[in-house]
Amino acid sequence: MTIASIGWHRPASLAEACALGLRYGSDAAFLAGGTELIPDYQRARETAQHLIALESVPGMRGISQDQGLLRIGALTTIAAVAASPLVRELVPALADAARAIGSPQIRSMATIGGNFCRAVPCADTPPAAIVSAARVRLVGTTGARELDAVDFFTGARATALAAGEVLVEIVIPVQPPHSGASYQRFARRRGPALAVAAVAARLTLDGDRVAEARIALGAVSPTPLTVARASALLKGAKPSAALFEAAGELCAQAALPISDVRGSADYRRELVRVLARRAFQEAVARAGGSVQ
Ligand SMILES: Cc1cc2nc3c(=O)[nH]c(=O)nc-3n(C[C@H](O)[C@H](O)[C@H](O)COP(=O)(O)OP(=O)(O)OC[C@H]3O[C@@H](n4cnc5c(N)ncnc54)[C@H](O)[C@@H]3O)c2cc1C
Repeated sequence: MTIASIGWHRPASLAEACALGLRYGSDAAFLAGGTELIPDYQRARETAQHLIALESVPGMRGISQDQGLLRIGALTTIAAVAASPLVRELVPALADAARAIGSPQIRSMATIGGNFCRAVPCADTPPAAIVSAARVRLVGTTGARELDAVDFFTGARATALAAGEVLVEIVIPVQPPHSGASYQRFARRRGPALAVAAVAARLTLDGDRVAEARIALGAVSPTPLTVARASALLKGAKPSAALFEAAGELCAQAALPISDVRGSADYRRELVRVLARRAFQEAVARAGGSVQ
């Protein structure tokens, strides 16, 4: 297959994009920043004969705050997410995750929608969005629907998107008072490198106790993994080094890592234990609390 043989479509509306997506089905791919898609063509991992460029579809770019909700258009670049004063103030863990992605060149082309829709297990923004209670808005030929972000990911490189459906925006409620979140990832070197393991956590405090804990692991299972047992252990307890150690252990037990060129399964589990502890500590500090 050569790039010249691929059908190129540039819809001017969302309805047109969805109709094209439905018409060509699995033989079409939506194109956002192209930082996943174009290398996938080069590796023959992508074979769709029709590319539907989303760049001219209005209303899918930008970050705004509206009635207690932060709205991030799917075509917003990773660089814009990382630099946004709104994201940095309201969801700092998501800004941290965006800043960790690739290089300046990649971040200036890559979109947050593409990071979600390619759904690679080591994608950085999904775990940070999930602990922030993000929802995704999907639009198709029959209308719109919203899902919890955690339910969007159905497997490695698999999502809940139906044929012709487009991810339009990511919607994040303003965080509850006394909440702090953290995104911790480990990669094999500084600079552009994929996460070997990652942990996102958001803790909400009530006085000197944890009122709610949300945790999502990245790069250690086919989809971002929430850890209900660790959340339950943290809930109602006073933050302490021993508590965070025990909760980190539950996270490590819950992980379903693979062994590959970036690290063995055992190494990844050990990373999760350490990164979880760091995430809990930073989350408490950002919530204005302290650790005994
Ligand atoms: C050198 C390099 C380093 C990288 N480092 C990292 C890293 O550290 N962390 C990380 O998480 N990622 C990394 N990536 C991956 C990539 O940059 C991100 O996943 C990026 O956010 C993808 O966005 P995009 O706009 O380029 O997506 P595209 O390549 O345009 O699309 C990706 C997929 O999503 C679909 N799609 C895109 N937008 C939509 C939409 N709105 N609705 C429906 N389907 C859609 C496309 O059809 C395609 O299947 C790296 C990539 C490269 C090349």
